[in-house]
Amino acid sequence: MTVSIPIEIIRSPRRRKTVTLEFVDGHLRVRVPVHTTDATIQRILKQHQRQIEQWQARDRERQAQPPWYQRPFPVFGIDRKLCFEPGRSWSVALQGDCMTITGPGQSLADPAARHALVSWLRQLAQDDLTTRVAAWANRIQVTYHAVRIRDQKSRWGSCSSKGSLNFNWRLVMAPPFVIDSVVVHELCHRLEMNHSRAFWQHVYRFFPETQNAREWLKKHGQNLYF
Ligand SMILES: [Zn+2]
Repeated sequence: MTVSIPIEIIRSPRRRKTVTLEFVDGHLRVRVPVHTTDATIQRILKQHQRQIEQWQARDRERQAQPPWYQRPFPVFGIDRKLCFEPGRSWSVALQGDCMTITGPGQSLADPAARHALVSWLRQLAQDDLTTRVAAWANRIQVTYHAVRIRDQKSRWGSCSSKGSLNFNWRLVMAPPFVIDSVVVHELCHRLEMNHSRAFWQHVYRFFPETQNAREWLKKHGQNLYF
């Protein structure tokens, strides 16, 4: 095994056969059934060597970047300049290209500053997606139950069979056409609860820019995780 990476092995008595690998905080977490031998684990790692190397490369790339507060910060796809202002309680204000985070900390490096920003973005997402979903549902002529904002690690949206719609709060950092495409995708599941050809026909009929939006997310989606 040529991958040099800290490895955490979790042997679980509840597992029967499944093995899962995930990359967490710079190390590899391997979950295996309780009686798995070291030799078997080595073999599994070797089988997944390419994937592991990809994770490491992506992690190195992220580490090489300046922290989020030293980069332009996109809201609705437009880069904003972040500023910090000392104040009594935490708040966020967006005025034009300038986003000011106020609070009783020292700087934007304070974890509470990030926390304030995330709360603000979640509220923005709730308001924005509630409005957007209502408008699109009307156009597509479908009903739905609720719009919820979630901290999803690898999804942009989902739709339950009962019509509850979940959206990743990070979407409000993306350009509006990308947000719309995710909304249309999820609402089209009210017509087809699958990814069949019929489903995609609905999606493209209501939102012809879908392909561009999907490409945008593939290319830039990772940058919305800060
Ligand atoms: Zn889908």
